[in-house]
Amino acid sequence: KRDTNPKKMNLGVGAYRDDQGKPFVLNCVRKAEAQIAAKKLDKEYLPIVGLADFSKACAQLALGPDNEVLKSGRSITVQTISGTGSLRVGANFLARFHNVSRDVYLPKPSWGNHTPIFRDAGMQLKAYTYYDPKTIGFDLKGALDDISKTPEKSVIVLHACAHNPTGVDPRPEQWKEMAALIKKRNLLVFFDMAYQGFASGDIDRDAWAVRYFIEQGHNILLSQSFAKNMGLYGERVGGFTVVCKDAEEAKRVESQLKILIRPIYSNPPMNGARIASTILNTPELYKEWLEEVKGMATRIIRMREMLVSNLKKEGSTQDWQHVTDQIGMFCFTGL
Ligand code: PLP
Repeated sequence: KRDTNPKKMNLGVGAYRDDQGKPFVLNCVRKAEAQIAAKKLDKEYLPIVGLADFSKACAQLALGPDNEVLKSGRSITVQTISGTGSLRVGANFLARFHNVSRDVYLPKPSWGNHTPIFRDAGMQLKAYTYYDPKTIGFDLKGALDDISKTPEKSVIVLHACAHNPTGVDPRPEQWKEMAALIKKRNLLVFFDMAYQGFASGDIDRDAWAVRYFIEQGHNILLSQSFAKNMGLYGERVGGFTVVCKDAEEAKRVESQLKILIRPIYSNPPMNGARIASTILNTPELYKEWLEEVKGMATRIIRMREMLVSNLKKEGSTQDWQHVTDQIGMFCFTGL
């Protein structure tokens, strides 16, 4: 803030900016806000688990509306205080109930907040190889080697897409190898999906790994954030999902999540959840949102291409392909 250089750029904050370097509010969000304001809704507390219409649409967005898990009712989704709140509720849930192991394996490196979230909840942090500085890409062999040595029933955190901070994601065939080995090791998968739609511009493509793991029989935990893909950063909108073995177990998990959440924040904030729910549940707004999220993702992809072509134009002979191979808002440049 003290730097008066007109060309200054903040490359540290994980928030999307427009061409003027300003925060960007989506049109569909403005429209949803107007619809909500016109309804003159009351400000009663939400239930402990949040706004039901939001949670349902949130789970459908991640898993796909026809997912067998949703049809059979063997999952529970609760509204949370964005992605961070979701991860923390999940971490507390594991600390209370996953008594078979305290170990949580994070990719090396991972989002800076993952460590304190799980540590403060009482879990023990471990790590698996992920990033390869030599290729500035994904180290599949290193990851598989490390995962094959993790004690059974440990928790493993996977970034669903647009890995923070590297921008490096496994390809589908690499995800398949990971899913098979993780199953063999009997690990519990906790997916962090903070960027659905924001990575490729396609919400289904970005959720591919999450859906594939479920198909392969993994009963995952899932954190979702609407900070980036709806630009709802400060509204704090997110969801936490537990996929269970059957509907009975899902009921018990829901009951325990209520017991866990009640003394932390009692119930989640309503405004952002109403906005997200209005967008997800109103066909015209949903369509507009898909276009807008694609617009943001495409612009990021174009910027990567422009960075590479300008580096070449300036005379660099280095191979910059990793910059365009990486995905999402974050980039390890190799500089
Ligand atoms: N997980 C990852 C990997 C992130 O990059 C972020 C935000 O930067 C989050 C979770 C959670 O963000 P929020 O709490 O704003 O939803």
